[in-house]
Amino acid sequence: MKWRMVPMLLAGSAMLTACTSGGATPTSMPEPLLQPVSIPQAPAPSSSPSPTPPTPPPHAGTVVMLDPGHNGGNASHPAEINKQVPAGRGETKPCNTTGTATNAGYTEHAFNWDVAQRVGAALATHGVQVRYTRDNDTGVGPCVDKRAAIANQSGAAAVVSIHADGSDSSSAHGFHVSYSNPPLNAAQGRPSIGLADDMRDAFRSAGFPTSTYLGSGGIYPRDDLAGLNLATLPAVLVECGNMRNPGEAAAMSSTAGRQRYADAITAGILGYLGL
Ligand code: ZN
Repeated sequence: MKWRMVPMLLAGSAMLTACTSGGATPTSMPEPLLQPVSIPQAPAPSSSPSPTPPTPPPHAGTVVMLDPGHNGGNASHPAEINKQVPAGRGETKPCNTTGTATNAGYTEHAFNWDVAQRVGAALATHGVQVRYTRDNDTGVGPCVDKRAAIANQSGAAAVVSIHADGSDSSSAHGFHVSYSNPPLNAAQGRPSIGLADDMRDAFRSAGFPTSTYLGSGGIYPRDDLAGLNLATLPAVLVECGNMRNPGEAAAMSSTAGRQRYADAITAGILGYLGL
């Protein structure tokens, strides 16, 4: 609990830096962030142009990047998808993959897309500016390195990749959250670990079991995921569960189930942002 403030401060700094270097609404950014901590008897900041600015939503201006894994057109474009791209740590990987599916044929890319839309809608009600690494579920890619670049250029306070796994074992189940380890920059250190922990806590609070087959206690640090290796902002990847497990496949295939996953991801992000 006590070091949860650290990633918040780092995230805020990252956002301000991005906004002051070319954000869409530079003049309105600093005051909403400062206003909640002002003390009545303290002297007004000399730089404030107005003594009574309107009160914005708590996180107006905060950007969150949602990265729905894979894409609906990937399977029909193998040449583009198999092209090697930088994956960080001196490695290369295929541009993207098709993702997995339930035994009944419900695809991971569709699940990721639907859950991301639900998360985005919920975050927007908190004043968060939501961005996505892809605009639809029918395109190809973007490649994993391009997704990282899109996220890094957004100045987001948090970057969350949304996936579902496809273990060969039908009994394997549960969620896990990954972050880049060993870290390659400051953002991949405590901020990303803090985001991963908050996401894990939110999934647990929502009643989702931690993975029985990967990582430990719902956390799985990795050095082989391009999106995390290339991240310069706090970033995690969530594997919501195993699409080959009958129970989790049923949940993922239902609207109500996807809303539950989306609610957990939303809570994890809001927890990290301090709401
Ligand atoms: Zn995936």
